[in-house]
Amino acid sequence: MKRTAVFLCIVLLFMGGGILNAQQNLKVFISVDMEGICGVVNSDHVSATGSDYGRAREWTTEEANAAILGALDAGAAEIVVNDSHGGMRNILIENLHPEADLISGSPKALSMMEGIDETYDAVIFIGYHARMGTMNAVLDHTMSSSRIYNVFMNGKIMNEASMNAAIAGYYGIPVVFVAGDKAVTEQVHELIGKNIEVAAVKEGVGRQAARNVSLEKARKMIREGVRRGIENRSRMPVYKLDPPVTLEMEFLRSDMTDNLILIPGVKRVSARKVTYTHDDYITVFKLMRALITLAGS
Ligand SMILES: [Zn+2]
Repeated sequence: MKRTAVFLCIVLLFMGGGILNAQQNLKVFISVDMEGICGVVNSDHVSATGSDYGRAREWTTEEANAAILGALDAGAAEIVVNDSHGGMRNILIENLHPEADLISGSPKALSMMEGIDETYDAVIFIGYHARMGTMNAVLDHTMSSSRIYNVFMNGKIMNEASMNAAIAGYYGIPVVFVAGDKAVTEQVHELIGKNIEVAAVKEGVGRQAARNVSLEKARKMIREGVRRGIENRSRMPVYKLDPPVTLEMEFLRSDMTDNLILIPGVKRVSARKVTYTHDDYITVFKLMRALITLAGS
């Protein structure tokens, strides 16, 4: 009996060490957009030439910091923040928490998900927004407000969160927390999974008006939600699109699709709509980004 007890103690010690070790290696990826940040309600906040842009950059940086603190509370050992809005140079590095690395600038092949790979344990979205055409959703759009009307993948209507969640899922990683307006948090539960922790930091009153919680409360909600999300990551959905993946893109105007059939494999199915199918989702995602660029040329 005694020998069994000693053996059990040794096994438990090893197991404990293992858990501690896993915690030490915990890697968290944070993608930070801007339209869904608390206080942001107008294009003036999110455009680099807007008069309120400087203030909105500070709010964005502080929400990123709240997510970093939540990740640290959950035991994260490595945190990477990817600036994911517009030219992707919004976050003020001088004010960012020193424990996180920052991916800044553009273009980046994986855009809002640049830097992700299979070594991460959890993905966080901050400042996200609803898809184009959502009611009472602050600055709603899908990838490009000047070019895209709708994006479908395997017949499902997508928003930026679900497209980016599918990139995380491609590498086997769950999205555990999303912050933004109420509309995007509802879409995340509907499109990606019901278990995901969310924080609705504002509720759209229209496309360019919202009822915001205080900045302080928003950051508290984010810090606590991120911690809970990471701690419960084993119960969070790993969102995957079954191959082959069929992309359907509906552009705003028919002249935007005129040039898209120059790319092999792209079919124009109506005046404003093109389709493309491939087994590899990352290939589909990159192709989609090429189509958006070409549509604007
Ligand atoms: Zn954005």
